[in-house]
Amino acid sequence: AVRIDALTKRFGSGAAALTALDEVSFRIGAGEIVALLGLSGSGKSTLLKHVNGLQAPTSGGGTVLGTDLATAKAAELRALRRRIGFVFQQFHLVDRLTVLENVCTGALGSLRGPRLGLFTYPRPVREAALDRLDRVGLADWAFQRADTLSGGQQQRVAVARALMQEPRILLADEPVASLDPESSGQVMRLLRDVATQSRLTVLCSLHQVDVALSFADRIVGLRRGRVVMDVSTAGIGREEVMRLYREVGADPE
Ligand code: ATP
Ligand code: MG
Repeated sequence: AVRIDALTKRFGSGAAALTALDEVSFRIGAGEIVALLGLSGSGKSTLLKHVNGLQAPTSGGGTVLGTDLATAKAAELRALRRRIGFVFQQFHLVDRLTVLENVCTGALGSLRGPRLGLFTYPRPVREAALDRLDRVGLADWAFQRADTLSGGQQQRVAVARALMQEPRILLADEPVASLDPESSGQVMRLLRDVATQSRLTVLCSLHQVDVALSFADRIVGLRRGRVVMDVSTAGIGREEVMRLYREVGADPE
């Protein structure tokens, strides 16, 4: 589903140039759940933005759902983004809207400016939103204002919103970084369940090795823009886990 080939991204030029991604290569098979592990500044967000065509590589590239990242035109990249769901660290819900309305905004072409509201959404959109809320276990909260929910619940709403377009790929950028350990565990379990049920391909950036180990089928470790490790989590031993901590520069405590 995703093939990244020698992708390099530089910001700036000359002496001030910064290489955010340095010849990054890896693959993700359809339905595979991959964690992207790395410290702050290692290039996780930049890589995710390339996978959904929001940023263009300086050199190299790859293909995502058959779209060539290096050569695709703007319209093709927009079409690609429609098939990809995205979940952010800061959930980015609209506080004053209800949970259901927030999920509705995930439908294509649903943002209609300042008069956004429940009754501006056609019935099929509202029904789809309720279905997605059901999948994340929050159907009972549909008519609450988004800002009355806990952080973990808000992130589950954001997952429901990302599922509105029935994406093939789900990208998540540190989805649990601002949550406490308990809500974080809930959100990661939910993401895994939803991904498995909907046969989604998932690439999720994280900075905690233990979270990545319990969540993903595979872990790609980034350090200063380079892939320093690419391991399957099946039957991974203590040695390999310690190596992961060292390679990504994370603290085991
Ligand atoms: P964090 O865990 O803090 O979110 P990250 O792994 O997501 O970090 P990135 O945001 O991808 O890291 O940044 C990688 C490097 O690229 C950093 O040094 C960052 O300052 C730089 N960078 C990212 N975006 C830009 C930009 N638009 N312009 C200039 N430099 C950038
Ligand atoms: Mg980031």
